[in-house]
Amino acid sequence: MEDCIFCKIAAGEIGALVYEDEDVAAFNDLKPQAPVHVLIVPKKHIARVSDVTGGEDACLMGKILVVANKIAAQRGIAEEGYRVVANCNEGAGQSVWHVHFHLLGGRKLGWPPG
Ligand code: 5GP
Ligand code: ZN
Repeated sequence: MEDCIFCKIAAGEIGALVYEDEDVAAFNDLKPQAPVHVLIVPKKHIARVSDVTGGEDACLMGKILVVANKIAAQRGIAEEGYRVVANCNEGAGQSVWHVHFHLLGGRKLGWPPG
């Protein structure tokens, strides 16, 4: 996708990645909401999580979860706890139209979220 900022970041064209493999990339959020706030994305452009209906895309979502676990362990927040969350569509707060999972941790996280 030509005009997608997360496609560009995932391709290494802008900014720094904190993790990369064949299918998945991760980078620090521009406006962190917690001491650890990493965005984990598929390299493939998928606009929103509701577009994931099975097959290869479902497999990609599983890979993202595994990457989230790895980064949480690396950042030392695995034991205390962390949150992996994706906002789908405007009502849930989605503002970038390329699937991304927020990995949040390093402070006490309230529930329910706002
Ligand atoms: P959403 O609101 O879609 O769930 O999350 C989008 C996230 O992307 C926000 O937390 C926002 O701070 C982050 N973000 C938006 N643009 C950029 C950018 O250009 N670079 C980085 N690293 N994060 C971004
Ligand atoms: Zn994209």
